[in-house]
Parts: sequence; C-alpha cells; structure tokens
Amino acid sequence: MNDLYELKTTNDILTCIEDAGASITRAEIAKKLKLSRTTVSTAVADLMQLGLVQEQNAALEATPTNGPGRPGIPLKLRTDQWYAVGASFHTSTWFFTILNLAAGVVYRHSLKLPALTPEMFIHFLLKGLRHVLKKCPGRLLPLIGIGLPGLIDDRAGVILHAEDLGWHNIPVAEIVWRELRLPAVVLNRHRACALAEFNFYKKVDHFIYLGIDTGIIASVIIDGRPLTGTNHYAGEIGHTIVDPNGPQCQCGKHGCLQAMASLNTLNRLIREEYHSNPPSLAVDVLLPYLKRGDFIPGEVIMDAACNQHPVALAALREISKSLGIAIGNLINLLNPQTIVLGGSLTFSRHELLTDLVREEVTKYAMVYPFSVVQIHPSRLGIYSGAIGAASLPLERKLELVLRATQND
Ligand SMILES: [Zn+2]
Repeated sequence: MNDLYELKTTNDILTCIEDAGASITRAEIAKKLKLSRTTVSTAVADLMQLGLVQEQNAALEATPTNGPGRPGIPLKLRTDQWYAVGASFHTSTWFFTILNLAAGVVYRHSLKLPALTPEMFIHFLLKGLRHVLKKCPGRLLPLIGIGLPGLIDDRAGVILHAEDLGWHNIPVAEIVWRELRLPAVVLNRHRACALAEFNFYKKVDHFIYLGIDTGIIASVIIDGRPLTGTNHYAGEIGHTIVDPNGPQCQCGKHGCLQAMASLNTLNRLIREEYHSNPPSLAVDVLLPYLKRGDFIPGEVIMDAACNQHPVALAALREISKSLGIAIGNLINLLNPQTIVLGGSLTFSRHELLTDLVREEVTKYAMVYPFSVVQIHPSRLGIYSGAIGAASLPLERKLELVLRATQND
C-alpha cells in the first residue's frame, strides 16, 4: 500500500467485509464499491497477509457467482491475530479490557486504588497495562485507548481538570509513552462508555449517553458523529441549570444538574434523611457506610432501592426529578432515538432509575419527540468505558497494523 488512494480503497474494502459480517465475496465487494475485481483481489490478498481478513471454509460455505470459474469464497474479519487494549477509570477503579478485531472481549482486569491521588491513579494505570499487555493472546494494535475523568485535551493526551477529584494537568499519554513506549489516545471516561453503548446499538444515528457519577456528562452523537464542540465542552450537561434556587455547585453557580442529581447529591439526601428521620430496618445495607462516614457507592444505593429501601428509593426519586427536566430538554432540543443512562447507578443494568426518570421526562418532553425515544440503562455495565476506549484503536486497525508490521 504505497499511496493514500490505495490505503483508502483497502480500508473501504476492510470496512465492507466487517459490516457484512461473514457473507461477502470479492465479486460482491467489487460491485458494492464500484471497483474492479483485480483491485479487490489485490487488496484482499494484502489484508489476508496482514492477518486482518480470512476466507470462510470454502468447501462448506462457498456461494456461486454469476461468472465462470471457481465459486466466490465468502470473506470475514480475522479475529485471532490482532487485539486492542483499552482502560477506563470509574468508581476509584481502573478497568482494563482486551478486544479482538470484532470488538469481542477476550480479557478483563480491574485494579482498585487504595487512595484517590494522581500518583496512585498513574501507578495503577501502568501496573494494570503491564499486566494486560502480558495477557494479550496475539499481536497488539500499537495504540492504547484510555478513558479518563474530567475535562480532557484529547490532542495533548492530558487531563486538564477533574473538578470532582481536585486534579489538574495530568499528562497521561506522555507518561504512558515514557513508561511503556506505547502511544495512547485518551478521551473522557463517560465518552468512552458512550462510544461502547453507541456501538452496541449499531443502527441508531441520534444517540445520547448520560453518565451519572460524582459528575454528570452527556455524550451526544448526531447523524452518527460525536458532538465535541469548539473547545471540548459539548455535553457538559452537569453544569446546565435545572433550578436557579438550588444548592451551590462546585463550579460556583446554583442549581446545576450536577448539584441536584449526582452521586454526591444522593449521598447528601440519604445522610439528611437519616439525620432527621432514621428508618428502622432489620437489615440496613446503608447504615455501615453512614456509621463510618464513608461515601456510599452508586451500585450500593441502587441495590438498596431495588430492595425497597425507603430512604434510597426516596433519594433516587428526588434526583430523578432534576434528571427528568434535563433529559426532557435534551429530547426537545435534539430529538434522539436512544438515550442511555450510565454510571455506577446502572452497573446492575436494573431498570429502576430509567423507569423513575421516564416518569419525570413525560412532564417536560414534547409529545412527538418523546414518542420515538427509548430510554435504557447501560447494557455493557462496569466495563463499558474500557470497551469504548479500546474501540478507538479498532477504528484505525488498518493504519495501526501497517505501522506495527513496518519492520517485520
Ligand atoms: Zn455547576
């Protein structure tokens, strides 16, 4: 592949084979992409040599072609040669995953930080990556995808600010390169989850992912393309105002969605209720956290609410009111097909939060855009960020395989 045109054509052919699943022949590709049979055959030979494409079992699965000669042999993506690694940081834990070229998860790993400091954050990222790289069952696409907390400069590979953690200017990609000699592509962790969930739904063009944790961010995909904004701020729905008389947010303003509906708010609401009106329950899963003064994780609150814990349920209802306003506005503004609620409250994939939110959204969304929208909890759970991060190198597989095989 010597020139850009050839590279683009080969990439188009690879995409065509990938999209077809396991049922497209060289002749069908030539017809679909309006290319000559020779061009397709040459490119497919290159792709097979690179370990990206393989022929199906010809004897069993051959399909006849219109022309004379041997039957067309269906082609498919080869999934046992090249792998992508992704990492993403959620609930004080690094999650790692290895994906094959069809985005199938072949390995998972997680490491919980003993303390939430930038030093631990970097130390455990490198430790986890070293471990995962050893587990790679084949060759690695030479680019690691990493989902990070806070506002990210994706070009520089830096966390600019993570307000809820109090971290600033952490040059993650540079550190990974220095320590592991591997380039990294970084993105906000919620955007990484959004990417994984978006890929899961495949045929949806207008998609919104709402990541709810200590911060709240929306990742918006319109016409199949992510909305980034002029300087990375698109999707900062956590700092849109849902009640000007509401509590003060970390950003200084009052009544931001984040101050009304984040995990911090849930924790505050639960503490206030226990202070003024403590429930008496035979078994209380929240009480040990409250006694120790610990932050109650989202998955614990959700489990409690699903088991009819009155305080957890009331607190979830309360934040659903603000989420309903924000999501109603999003529906009226963007007319999406699918909205996915993510973050630790939805790691169990339970429908409770989406049910509560849907009830509130009906009060604010216009009838027609609401009639077409589906609201779901995250389908991929706690590893969605790592899966989404690993999907970034997968999108560039041909370019990365060429780079990796340059010196073979
Ligand atoms: Zn704010």
